[in-house]
Amino acid sequence: MTTKKIVEGILNSDRSILSKAITIIESERKDHQKKAKEIIKNCLPYSGNSFRIAITGIPGVGKSTFIESFGQHLISKGGKIAVLTIDPSSLESKGSILGDKTRMEKLASKKEAFIRPSASKGSLGGVAKKTKESIILCEAAGYNHILIETVGVGQSETSVTSMVDFFILLMLSNTGDELQGIKKGIMEVADLIVVNKADGKNIKNTKIAVAELKNAIHLQAERKSNFPLNALSCSSINNEGMKEILITIKEYAKCTIKNGYFHTKRKKQNEAWLKNILLNELTNNLNEKNNISNELKKLANEVSTRKIDPYTAVEKLMISFKYLKKR
Ligand code: GDP
Repeated sequence: MTTKKIVEGILNSDRSILSKAITIIESERKDHQKKAKEIIKNCLPYSGNSFRIAITGIPGVGKSTFIESFGQHLISKGGKIAVLTIDPSSLESKGSILGDKTRMEKLASKKEAFIRPSASKGSLGGVAKKTKESIILCEAAGYNHILIETVGVGQSETSVTSMVDFFILLMLSNTGDELQGIKKGIMEVADLIVVNKADGKNIKNTKIAVAELKNAIHLQAERKSNFPLNALSCSSINNEGMKEILITIKEYAKCTIKNGYFHTKRKKQNEAWLKNILLNELTNNLNEKNNISNELKKLANEVSTRKIDPYTAVEKLMISFKYLKKR
């Protein structure tokens, strides 16, 4: 299939072509990588119009069940959602990825949903290397909510925090009294903590856990977003609490768009993305002798203001240092 056909398919919201395109993006093959760049470049002008949400928590906390429920709530409010699930255990094993696919069945059957599992291939932060690029393709396909399911929060720039607008940490009530178990770093990056499985015998414990979390949150320093961290509860299997979670997300979006944090964060993420692509190109193709910091600074600024896409920026840098011939 030609790049043109693929891009057209994506823009027409063809789920099977979108899925194929993500496979090309994730492929290590040189010809695929070349094609991937073209696809991404062509999709970039149509990207950026979604709200990107990460859902993180330990295995078994109920991430898939939560997304199944929350995703349907979003759809009932008119949303079109893409779910990117990152499977850190799977490495190359296809079996595990297929195993994943059987989850979120109700959501998967909706025409307004696209679900795509990827292997993290052991990269830092439990995030697949090409998650950022997959987000762009999904946005170009018209999905206005991107949900990213992952177990880890890494320190690297490929960490999920560098790709999303909003970060939900899912917890269980029986971990509520072990607040020390929540790493300080996670509290800092989370925009909302949700205690899942607030049903049956768990209801009382959940209330205690939420109260404890609210107390702990209270002691936190001011947040960069200027939006207060909150703790809520939900029951994903009973579809309870989803409305309140969506309300909080909407309030966050409203507040951070108004105070500029939303756009500043995206700008920074784009700068980080450019640097990532450049570093990959450098490590793949170059021996690093030159001082490229000035031109990089200039192009980073142009990428962050969307004057130029990061792939073209990197090509320009390469040409400057005669690693690539001008086309
Ligand atoms: P993940 O590993 O974080 O994706 O967790 P799963 O979504 O696979 O859920 C793990 C287990 O918890 C499954 O047996 C779910 O049925 C169960 N579970 C998920 N959400 C809830 C909930 O809200 N209440 C109860 N009681 N069980 C839940």
